[in-house]
Amino acid sequence: MSQTPTRADFDHYMVPNYAPQQAVPVRGEGSRLWDQEGREYIDFAGGIAVNGLGHCHPVLVEALTAQANRLWHLSNVYTNEPALALARSLVERTFADKVYLCSSGGEANEAALKLARRWAHDHHGEHKHRIVSFSQSFHGRTFFTVSVGGQPKYAQGFGPVPGGIVHGEYNDLDSVRNLIDDDTCAVMVEPMQGEGGIIPAVPEFLQGLRDLCDAFDALLIFDEVQTGAGRTGSLYAYQQYGVTPDILTSAKSLGGGFPVGAMLTTDRVAKAFAIGTHGSTYGGNPLASAVALAAVEFIDTPEVLEGVKHRHDLFREHLEAINRQHGVFREIRGMGLLIGAEMAPAYEGRARDILPLALEEGLMALIAGPNVLRMAPSLVIPEADIAEGMARLERAVARLVAGQ
Ligand SMILES: *Cc1c(COP(=O)(O)O)cnc(C)c1O
Repeated sequence: MSQTPTRADFDHYMVPNYAPQQAVPVRGEGSRLWDQEGREYIDFAGGIAVNGLGHCHPVLVEALTAQANRLWHLSNVYTNEPALALARSLVERTFADKVYLCSSGGEANEAALKLARRWAHDHHGEHKHRIVSFSQSFHGRTFFTVSVGGQPKYAQGFGPVPGGIVHGEYNDLDSVRNLIDDDTCAVMVEPMQGEGGIIPAVPEFLQGLRDLCDAFDALLIFDEVQTGAGRTGSLYAYQQYGVTPDILTSAKSLGGGFPVGAMLTTDRVAKAFAIGTHGSTYGGNPLASAVALAAVEFIDTPEVLEGVKHRHDLFREHLEAINRQHGVFREIRGMGLLIGAEMAPAYEGRARDILPLALEEGLMALIAGPNVLRMAPSLVIPEADIAEGMARLERAVARLVAGQ
């Protein structure tokens, strides 16, 4: 008889690269989760900005089960209807002319960076390979993306890093002016830094990057893995900024919990990915594509996107009320339902300490670096769950303040 797995099995059987919480969730519905003990939690974490429609949303369950009874996988030797429908939908809703499908954010960024290098190589030659990125940025955990990412700890100890990568300061255009030149093939940036601390770009910064890229014939890559698929209140954040990239990457909420990634680009750039230049076994998988199509079509409606903005205001009001009571936050910021609360100086570096307290109170939340409490809930989280989740957060914060 096989035994029910427990948290202790993690330490026995899993590579020790994570330190998960003790509770093991077994079931989710909307913005609520239940663990093995039957304890219930409100979910402000959303699987790190992935569960865009909460847990087991009926629209996604229907798309997945319908496809599960038709066709699971073909490889890239054949195309399939869900992949084609998803690609068309993304093209119709964005600046893009062409889509590359894959299975994760890191893979989408890997494709974007390789595409930029290949495009520059084909049009200008080998010398045009330099990539400008930003300190504190996060672009994934493949070796290329940790190298482009601006948190050196993720690349340390893995041997020689790929060359030709430089880092400027986020929201500081002068730092980019000092780095960009005719050898630059791409500038990669998150319209709002997620892992780096929930830091929205100032509009002039993104517009300035666009202008610099145009001046040096470099490609502007927006990493919208975290900000995309409705998270900020528009399908993609670039649509609110009014600054159009040459390449955009999407994952996380795009699949609502099913692994999928997408790289969007223009015809002009896409040509550099000629037959055989890049690929992925699971890219365009029918199950992933069917779920992502359902997610995109559900999210990209005025009702859902307006609802994100409304919920943003609710989150802010609740967090400000908690702060009036306890004075733990220095700043509350973010866009849509990607919200950060930076700790006040007296609680410097203690955002992490809130998480276990919140969990004990029945709330799942996140951090973005040691000093920012992060929330990335379902885009359709019921208002009652926001109120109840905030009551639980208030109790957790009160315990932090009381030193418990
Ligand atoms: C999460 C994230 C990634 C990496 O996505 P994976 O699916 O974990 O590979 C890349 N960029 C940003 C901005 C992210 O938030």
